[in-house]
Parts: sequence; C-alpha cells; structure tokens
Amino acid sequence: MNTFGEATLGELAQALRGDLIRPSDPGYDEARSIWNAAHDKRPALIVRCQGVADVLKAVEFARSEGLPLAVRGGGHSIPGFSTVDDGLVLDLSPMKGIRVDPEGRTVTAQAGCLWSDVDAETQAFGLAVTGGIISTTGISGFALGGGIGWLVRRAGLTCDNLIAADIVTADGQYLHTSEDERPELLWALRGGGGNFGVVTSLQFRLYEVGPTVFSGLVFYAGEHAERVLRGFRTATAGAPDELTALVNMTTAPPAPFLPEEIHGKPIVAVGGMWAGRIEDGDAATRPLRELAPVVTDLFGPMPYTAMQGLLDPLYPRGMWNYFRSAFFDDLDRAAAPLVREFGRLPNPLTEIHVHHLGGAMGRVPADATAFATRDQEFILNVVARSTDADGYPAAVAWARGATDALGPDAPTYVNFTGEGGADRVRAAYPKDTYERLVAVKDRYDPANLFRLNQNISPSVPA
Ligand code: FAD
Repeated sequence: MNTFGEATLGELAQALRGDLIRPSDPGYDEARSIWNAAHDKRPALIVRCQGVADVLKAVEFARSEGLPLAVRGGGHSIPGFSTVDDGLVLDLSPMKGIRVDPEGRTVTAQAGCLWSDVDAETQAFGLAVTGGIISTTGISGFALGGGIGWLVRRAGLTCDNLIAADIVTADGQYLHTSEDERPELLWALRGGGGNFGVVTSLQFRLYEVGPTVFSGLVFYAGEHAERVLRGFRTATAGAPDELTALVNMTTAPPAPFLPEEIHGKPIVAVGGMWAGRIEDGDAATRPLRELAPVVTDLFGPMPYTAMQGLLDPLYPRGMWNYFRSAFFDDLDRAAAPLVREFGRLPNPLTEIHVHHLGGAMGRVPADATAFATRDQEFILNVVARSTDADGYPAAVAWARGATDALGPDAPTYVNFTGEGGADRVRAAYPKDTYERLVAVKDRYDPANLFRLNQNISPSVPA
C-alpha cells in the first residue's frame, strides 16, 4: 500500500490538466474498472490525461515514486494489464483528437480513441484502416499488438499501416518515430506492444472502403460444424484480398434474427466483409453462405460503420474473460479437434473463432514489423467467458485445452492472449524477432518501467 503526502499529491493534481482520481474520490470505482471483470484491481492513483503534458507528468511521477505503472488506451486488455493494485493507472481515454488527411489518405489519432471514433471520422471521407471487429476496443493497445479485423486481407494488420507515432519514453523524452525517424522504434511498435513508452498519438495509412460494404453473418446449425469448417477452407482458398471472413462456433443467443427453436443450441456463424466493389459482393460472399443448410443469412449491403459495430452488444463490459490463440495452416487437419472442443463448451457465452488471414497481411515480409507470424493462413482465438467468478476457472481450463488441441507449440498472438508470463511472450515471437525487440527495449526502457504488458524483458533485468 502506498501512502503519499497530501502536499505531493496536491502538487501533482495542480500540475495536471486532467483529473487525478484517488480511492476516496466518488468516481474511483468507475474509473478503476476495465472491460474484463476478471481483473478487479485497486490502483493508488488514476491520472486521466488530457494531453502530452499530463502523460509526461504521470510517467515522471510513477518513476520517481517507484510506482507500478499501468497504461490504458481503450481498457480492453484481456490479461488486465491496464489496471494495477497500489500503482498508477495512466488513463489516456480523454485524449480523443483525430485529424484525417483525405488527400494524403492518412489519419492521426490520439491514443485514447476507440475504433468507433476513428471509423466515424475516416468514413466521412470513405476511408478506413483495419480496426477491431468490436468497435469499443481502443486503437492503441490494438495497433501496438498487431490488429486483426475485417480489412486484414485487404489492407494488412493495423500495425502494418502504422506509419508514425509520438511516444513518451521512460526517461521522460517525447519522441517522434516514422519510417525515416527512429525506424527501429517504429518497427518495435508494430507488434511489440506497450513495451517502449506511452504512445500519445498514432498515424495510420488509409484505404478507400465503403461507405457501404457487402457484409454480415450467416448461421448454420451446430451439427454441421465440421462440414462448415471444411467448406470454409475451400471457400477461402484463393479468395480475393477484398474478402475477409471468420467462423464462430458458439451457442445461439436469444436474438430476434434467429428462430426460437435454435436458441440455446450449438450454432456456427460465418462472418465476412467484402471490401471491394459493392455490386460484386453478393457473388463474392456466396461461397461462405452455402456451406450447409442455412438457418439465417444476414449478409447484405450495409454501412461499414454498422458492420464494425454489429457485434458490439454481444461483448459487454463486466464479464469474466480469457482469450487464447494459436496460428495454424491446415484447417482440414484442425477441423476434427476443433469440433470436438465445440462439443465441450463450458458455457453458452464461450466461443471458438477461426479467422482467415493471408492476403495483404501475408505479403508483408516477416522482418518488416515486430509482428512476424505471416505465413499461417488461420488463427484460432478461443474466447472463454463467464458472467461471474464461479464459472471462470472451468472456462479458462477448457480454453487452454482447446488451444493446445492444435499443438501446444503453435505460435500465438499477444492481443489474443489472456495471461502474461515469459513463456507466453516467447510463444508470440520468433527468436530473432524477440532478440531484436530486447535490443529496442534496452535502448528505450532498460529499467522496465513499462512492464505491465506482454513483457519484453531488458537484457539486464531491473
Ligand atoms: P488497453 O487495456 O487500454 O491496453 C492494453 C495494453 O496495451 C496496455 O496494458 C499497454 O501495455 C498497451 N497500451 C495501450 N495503450 C497504450 C499506449 N497509448 N501506449 C503504450 N502502450 C499502450 N484484437 C484484434 O486483433 N482483433 C479483434 O478483432 C479484437 N477484438 C477484440 C474484442 C474484444 C471485446 C476485446 C476485449 C479484445 C479484442 N481484441 C482484438 C484484442 C485487443 O486488440 C487487445 O485487447 C488490445 O490490447 C486492446 O487495446 P486497448 O487499447 O483497448 O487496451
């Protein structure tokens, strides 16, 4: 437990443009909560940053007081890295400035933006960059870890399109990085997570998308799961870059668009976005919509922003969540184990996602960014959830087993990883990428001030 002198805290509060929130303050409980209820921590201080000046002060305060420092963008960290017991939470959520350059096709966004914020601004000009399939996720943690979304095959990962950033480093410097300035730092930010400092703004390359795209979901009864998976493999093989799709094996929610008799039963949803010419969308997505007898087909033309927010209601704050991932190449081989795990879902909220990758993402050279796993066609993301603590251990145990069913040594993705730990981090990076990340860590954060993340340990542990 930290105790600060009133004078010290008074000075900090005075110096900030944003709020300093303490455990005795009325807004504390709301301010300390993050999306994943499995991490219920009690920070000593929460600094709601209004700008770079506040970030500089918060970093300096945490360092000088020896406080554990948690950096929060959109607060969707699955392992709960954006909160901390007895430490300082540096909350960037008030920093939401966005500037689109329609001619140069770039957007510069402050680190507290969510995908819903950025999508709204860029779509005003018919532009977009790969964002999350849930629009309430923050752009910062998302982009720094990689970023797989509905445009991943058309435009690459979000981090592939990160062309510049501003960052406050552990020693209090405010640096700019781009392909011309400190390119090794930009390389590390493209997939190396929050290890190198507090990123205060991010610049992304944009693509012409929408504003109307042909996209949606189609549902099949759970008994057809294996057929759907094998068909998905065929339907996606050789698909154009404009088509990005995923399979979700879960339990039918009581949604009005699903017939009542299927509610609560196993169901397989195939979601997809055609980000090409709208008139080609029906034909391009048809192979995904004819994999087995159809329960409901919701594919059609819709605003890009509507597709980005379509699944938001299914992922509310306040549940207990654990994700675990594995890249893999051979869906025919994976189909049987995945269907077996589908038969063992620990509760109706739990889901097995298979994202189709490749396209623009697959053509980026493995050493061009810290996100190096480019040669695998699919990623499994097991989304284990429960409404409370009671169901959580069983959901987590099942998720670990379900992912390991594809081979315990499969490479993983840091943003789809529900826990920290050196072995998890090593599993996400090839050895040479990891060593290169350590060199960047040594340069910008040798004392590991930024350690609440999928941590790259400096070569001399602090
Ligand atoms: P936060 O909790 O705010 O941050 C997570 C970590 O990132 C922090 O602890 C810190 O280490 C680092 N960080 C955040 N902001 C900064 C910053 N400005 N400077 C330095 N470090 C920072 N991932 C995908 O690829 N595709 C998806 O479609 C997808 N969907 C998701 C849906 C849901 C509901 C959830 C919960 C997660 C999803 N993810 C997805 C995973 C997501 O990418 C990560 O959880 C990501 O970390 C969220 O970013 P955030 O800013 O909201 O998180």
